[in-house]
Amino acid sequence: MTKLPNIAIDGPAASGKTTVARLVASRLGLVYLDTGAMYRAVTFQALQRGLDLADQAALEELSCGMRLDMEPDPESAAGHRLLVDGVDITAELHSPEVSRAVPRVASVPGVRRDMVRRQRLKSEQGGVIMAGRDIGTVVLPEARLKFYLDADLAERARRRLGDLLSEGRNFSREEVSRQLRERDDIDSSREDSPLRVAEDAERLDCTAMSAEEVVDLVVARFQESSR
Ligand code: C5P
Repeated sequence: MTKLPNIAIDGPAASGKTTVARLVASRLGLVYLDTGAMYRAVTFQALQRGLDLADQAALEELSCGMRLDMEPDPESAAGHRLLVDGVDITAELHSPEVSRAVPRVASVPGVRRDMVRRQRLKSEQGGVIMAGRDIGTVVLPEARLKFYLDADLAERARRRLGDLLSEGRNFSREEVSRQLRERDDIDSSREDSPLRVAEDAERLDCTAMSAEEVVDLVVARFQESSR
């Protein structure tokens, strides 16, 4: 049987990657993998255990020793549940504490090696749509289709604020905007696998596009590439 192509979706924080990847997966019958949730899971566990985030060896050991399972869950906003060693930690992944600490954990080379290894394993059968920061550049450089989703910071902050308010978390637009910018700065300037546009990625400015418009475009590209 021929393998279905894999799709890589990268971009800065709150650019719509998760929403788009989840909708494309359900339209095309692909498996969706949210790699940001994986880095968030390691971060949550590190905070729970009170690990020193400067201790790279301890973070790598934590990551390599974790059992990480993603199960489909149509009820949750992300479309799946994340279990660490059998415990559902989905509700903890987007807390302000995890969002603040995750770029530090994600800049540890040993943690990235472990995550990339797990992500590649999931993609071996084909038919996976993966969203993250280094998917087109490092995790799946051979992916048939690559997209880089971007949007103005003000628009990304507006959308993220909407998500936070609907979860009952109260922030100002300025605060959300500052947090997104800080996270993007760290993700773009780290030494190991920084956020970059892959040379062969299609860059989409989603500032004025609805999620459905972006999904239609990705689905159309997939269908063209499968002809
Ligand atoms: O996608 P999300 O915003 O949930 O990602 C959280 C963080 O995880 C990012 O800010 C980044 O530090 C890290 N990340 C990464 N590489 C990926 C996906 C996420 O470094 N492929």
